[in-house]
This record gives sequence, C-alpha cells and structure tokens, in this order.
Amino acid sequence: MTPARAAFGLFLAFLVAAPFALPEFYVTLMNYIGLAALVTLGLVLLTGVAGLMSFGQQAFVGIGAYATGVLTTVYAVSPWLSLPAGLALTGLAALGIGAITVRLSGHYLPISTIAWGIALYFVFGNLEILGRYNGLQGVPPITVGGWTVDSGRDSYVLIWVATLAALVAARNLLDSRSGRAVRALRFRGTMAESFGVDTARLKLVVFLYAALLAALSGWLYAHFLRFVSPGPFNVNAGIEYLFMAVVGGASSVWGAVVGASVLTMLKEWLKDILPALFEQSGNYEVIVFGVLMVALLHRTSAGLMPAFARLVPTSRREARPREAAPLARRERPRAGEPLLDVRAAHKQFGGLVAVSHLSFDMKSGEILGLIGPNGAGKSTMFNLITGVLAADDGEILFRGERIDRLPSRDIARRGIGRTFQHVNLVGAMSVLENVAIGAHLRGRHGSVASILRLDRAEEARLRAEAARQVERAGLGEHLLDAAGSLPLGQQRLVEIARALAADPVLLLLDEPAAGLRYREKQALAALLRGLREEGISILLVEHDMDFVMGLVDRLVVMDFGEKLAEGLPQEIQRNPAVIEAYLGGIE
Ligand code: ADP
Ligand code: MG
Repeated sequence: MTPARAAFGLFLAFLVAAPFALPEFYVTLMNYIGLAALVTLGLVLLTGVAGLMSFGQQAFVGIGAYATGVLTTVYAVSPWLSLPAGLALTGLAALGIGAITVRLSGHYLPISTIAWGIALYFVFGNLEILGRYNGLQGVPPITVGGWTVDSGRDSYVLIWVATLAALVAARNLLDSRSGRAVRALRFRGTMAESFGVDTARLKLVVFLYAALLAALSGWLYAHFLRFVSPGPFNVNAGIEYLFMAVVGGASSVWGAVVGASVLTMLKEWLKDILPALFEQSGNYEVIVFGVLMVALLHRTSAGLMPAFARLVPTSRREARPREAAPLARRERPRAGEPLLDVRAAHKQFGGLVAVSHLSFDMKSGEILGLIGPNGAGKSTMFNLITGVLAADDGEILFRGERIDRLPSRDIARRGIGRTFQHVNLVGAMSVLENVAIGAHLRGRHGSVASILRLDRAEEARLRAEAARQVERAGLGEHLLDAAGSLPLGQQRLVEIARALAADPVLLLLDEPAAGLRYREKQALAALLRGLREEGISILLVEHDMDFVMGLVDRLVVMDFGEKLAEGLPQEIQRNPAVIEAYLGGIE
C-alpha cells in the first residue's frame, strides 16, 4: 500500500469512527465541515483549477435550501423530489449567470457574483412565501427507506456520503479528457482552443458543477437543521467559502476538506473568544479570517494542502499507459493536392502592419519554410492560419474551404496542428498529459461520463496515443515528468508531440529547433522527414538556416510583413534581396 492510500484509509477510518466516538457537539461540527467542504470543492475546481473566482456560492446553497424548504413545508413534496427541483433551479440560475459572465475576463465574474449574492440574499429575506427574515420552520427530515435522518449522527452519514462521493467525482473529472482541458483553462486557454477545446463552454460546465455542489449542500443543510433562514446566505458566507478554498489549497480536491475543516473549527473557536475579547458581539471572525488569509498567501499561494501532503511521503506518480488499440486516423489528402492557400492576408496591430497582404500556397506533402528576420510577422501569420487571431483582410483556404472566419477549435478539427513559439504547456502537468491535450478531438466522452468512469477505454487509447507521440519525439524517458521541469528545447519537442497527437494533416512549427543541441536537431530533422513520408505537410518557421535549407522543399521569405521572395532553397540563398535583408544580417 502506498503512503497516500494509507493516509486516505486512515481518513476514512476516522470518518467511520467519528459518529460513534465523538460527542454530539463534534459530530455537529463535522456536519458543518462536510457541508462546507461540498461548496468549497466546487470553488476549488472553479477558482483553483479553472481560474474563475466566485463570491456568490452561498446564493446557490440558498437556492438549494429554500427550494427544498418551500417545496417540503408549503407543498408537502418529498425531499427526494425537492432535491432534483432545487438542482434544476440552481442549474438554470448558474447557466444564466454563467452565460453572461464566464466569458468576460478580469473582474467581471467576481463582481457579478457579489452582486448576484447580495440580490439573492434580499430576495430570500423579502419574499412572503420564503418566510421573509424569519425563514421557514418545520422542514421535515429526509427518509431513506425506513430510516429517518433526524439526529445529528444520522445527518452525519448522509452529509459525508455525499461529500465523499463529490470528492471522488471531482477526482475522476480532473483525471480525464475534460479534466485535462479544465486544468489548461487558467493559463493556457489559447492553446486549449487550438486543440479543439471549447473553453467558454467548459468554463460554464465548471461553473455549473460548482453551483450544483453548492445546491446539494443547501439541500442537506435545510434537512439537517430542519429550518431555513436568510442569515447563512449572506455575502459573508460567500467570502468564507472562498477563504476555505484558498486556505485549503485551491488546486487540490482534498484541499477542500482541509480548508473547510480548518476554517469551520477556527470559526467556532473564534466565535467563543472574540466577542469576549471585544466585549461586544459581532462577526469579528471575518476580520481574523481576512488577516489569516493575507498572511497565508504571503507565505504560500498554494494553501495548506501541500503542507498536509508533505506529512504523507507520497511517491504518487501516474502509471505509464498500457497498450491500447490505436485511435482512428484522419484520411490524408493525396500528395500534390492544394492544401493551404493564403490570399492577401492582412493583420495590423494599431498602426503596426504585422502581415501585409501576404499570399502563398502549399501543396500536400510539402515542407514549406517561412523565414524572415525577427518581427517579420511569421508568428502572426501562424496565428492567422490557426484562427488565434482574426485577419483584418484577405482569405485563407484549407483544402478548398475558407477557414479565416472560423474559431481556432474548428480549424483544429479540420486537421491543422501547431506549436507555439512561446512554449504553451501546462507546466505542472506531466509530459504525457500535456501531449494528451493534443488528442482532445480524438476522444468524445464528456464530463459526466468521466465522473462515472465510463470513459476508461477511450482514455486508455488517448493516453497510449500520447505516449507513442512522446516516444516518437524522443522524450520517452520524460513521459511522466512535469512538463515545466524540462529544458526549453525539450519543451518545444513536447509541443511537437502534442501537435502530432492531434493527427494533423498540416503541421505548423514555430521555431521548433530553438534551444536544441546539434544531435537533437538532427533527430528532429529526421522526425520531420518521416512525417513528410507519412503524408503530413509542414509549414516551418525556423532561424537555423542549416536546419531549414537541408529540410524544406520551398521557402517563403518575409520582411516587415511582406513577402520578400519565394522559391527553392538554392534560389533563395542566391537572392540578393534576401541576402541583403536577412541572410546578410546573420553572417
Ligand atoms: P516574427 O514571428 O516574424 O518574429 P511576429 O509575428 O511575432 O514576428 O511579430 C510581427 C510584428 O507584430 C512585431 O513587430 C511584433 O512586435 C508585432 N506583434 C505581434 N503580436 C502582437 C500583438 N499581439 N500586439 C501588438 N503587436 C504585435
Ligand atoms: Mg515569431
């Protein structure tokens, strides 16, 4: 047994023993911890993993609690029907808010969640049917078969079963095709889109998931307390949940339990001592929380979870993928077919013309070099072809179809794979997982399937494919290393492997040989020739002229956004304008 498993076993043993061994007061405290951990877990995914901040989770808890409160007390509906009703209502609210705010970057989401939280608090407090500020009394207990969940110890069972299930679900989700995409959202959205991930939709899914967990917590809460009032859904509560996520460590699902435990216990304790200290009552704990969070963030932004994890000497690494049936491959165009046709593409950044009405084309099976001095517009051209940037003018056709108005994920779907000049990897993820993001469009299972682990066969195939491409790029021994731990040159090779995992027809490589040693460059050149043999066409930006000249079929030379020359490598090397503008500058 690994130490991590042992620690998990110990935690489970504690959970099982707690209701028998602990006095009532602590069982109740554990209930509050479980309820808070559910909400916090949603925030961990939303904030820690996906990078979206919400101060409004308490409002979703409130919807879950009030929905069941009203339905069970006023309409005498069974709690087992009010649960789906509350989840549905929360889901609608979350989709509504999310659709408006999740796409907006910066502070829009946090601010709108605060506004939403405040608004809903007043709705809870002012609606007649919700009992105004007095709330709803007499919420019935939940019954499961013949078992009535009416004591703190009974509620404990229900709350912690739900919490553990949510933790397992979250772990399953993160360890999947969708999970890899979610983990790329925070810092690598552009890259994820370039491999077919619909990042806006995915953010909405995470927002929805977090809201549903909060609503579940609200449902449990209402039936545990047997009473619902607006107080616990005040804005304060939303801030506390965020504290819990940050304190626990916003990027580990277990951090949710740690954060919820630490802050719930601390709050209980502070509630006793602070009013005595200040000699009047008030919510002083919020101030203390704030100070603690600032102090904690000052020392580490990773929260307490890493410190807890260090107590357990883990050797946890993902397993090397097992062999699996290869994924279906795309049909390749015949050699010589028109592949890419760039017609007078134009891109300006303010007054700076980065690409100036540039035209060139590529036939299938070709390696075309795109060269030019720094700032010539080569990377911008890549971004126009892949839809990362929209062209101001001109047309770009791929296999006869216009692609210049498509979002980059749709261009990726058509078989264009790319690398980025500024390496665009998720540093904390393994090389294997980074490359597997490239194969995103070759899988189809979504978040629900991965939570239920229905995606395992496909996942094995995706991982096996990723492993094959990593081997092929010569990085087999680094398969399970964090991508960020490799030297920059090798990170570029990871980028190539990731692009290959997408099974591209056309591969766009932006300075792939930069930072490689002589031997590695030779291996890369051999790899690229092999790809051409297989029918993959390559558009190559590279500064190493020996590398380029020995490899490409044809060259396009750019300078100041314009096409300076085009032709065979020998012609280009003799072209006086090119020598003047570019090659001469190097020698
Ligand atoms: P290259 O890849 O050939 O070195 P780039 O395409 O990166 O050149 O850049 C071309 C020009 O466009 C440069 O002058 C660069 O500063 C400018 N540029 C590139 N991207 C942006 C951007 N996002 N905003 C403003 N200017 C940009
Ligand atoms: Mg560049």
